[in-house]
Amino acid sequence: MNYKARLNAIGLKATSQRLTLMRQLAMQGHLTIDAIYLALKNERPLLSLSTVYNNLSALVKRGIVKEVAIAGERQVFELTQQKHAHLICRKCGAITDVAADFAAIRRAAVVPNGAEIEEGDLIFNGFCARCAAAEHSDVA
Ligand SMILES: [Zn+2]
Ligand SMILES: [Zn+2]
Repeated sequence: MNYKARLNAIGLKATSQRLTLMRQLAMQGHLTIDAIYLALKNERPLLSLSTVYNNLSALVKRGIVKEVAIAGERQVFELTQQKHAHLICRKCGAITDVAADFAAIRRAAVVPNGAEIEEGDLIFNGFCARCAAAEHSDVA
């Protein structure tokens, strides 16, 4: 389904700003609100941050965009897709999608008596492919 159809299907008008926002997320994968703002501002110099924020919130509320669960400091967003884990690069901070079998992880989890898990996110720390390659070439 294209973006216009996806927006219409959930009752949102496919404004050029929303379409650009989704295209940017599709191209870049994971973006902070500031990065989204900068990308959109390129096309529309008069754009305000609050407008971008409102559009983003509308997309999050309707499940088209998802906030990536990374610990603390930054808020990062991505287009909603099949559930996956994230690898955060220790060196450059890049966020890489990692496929993971969440049903198997859920089955393997030992839940304390009386407690209930509803859902979870999985974060790996390490190095992105580029930084890992750089590390190894330093050694050689
Ligand atoms: Zn990196
Ligand atoms: Zn992701």
